[in-house]
Amino acid sequence: MDINKKDLFDILQNKKSELLKRITAIENDFKKGRSQDFSEQMTETENDQVLDEIHHEAKVELKQINEALVRLENNSYGICVKCEKTISAARLEALPYVNTCINCAQ
Ligand SMILES: [Zn+2]
Repeated sequence: MDINKKDLFDILQNKKSELLKRITAIENDFKKGRSQDFSEQMTETENDQVLDEIHHEAKVELKQINEALVRLENNSYGICVKCEKTISAARLEALPYVNTCINCAQ
């Protein structure tokens, strides 16, 4: 593993705060009042579904990042959780919080 641990930590932390901001923004949007107009309500319902999806995805991503941070702490970062082989640096660079190698991800 030749990826710098400190760099990785920063990348993951940045990604994490970005996600937290996104999640907060979505949750604030959910809390906003709903309009009385029926056609607008329809649009809002559709928006809610999209928002709900983004919200869910962001939460999943956040969980993965938190787990990656833990793995970084206990030096199991970059090791596939399924086959215990080293995950390629290129894969980690593209997806810093993956916990499976390319073979196990498929
Ligand atoms: Zn694997």
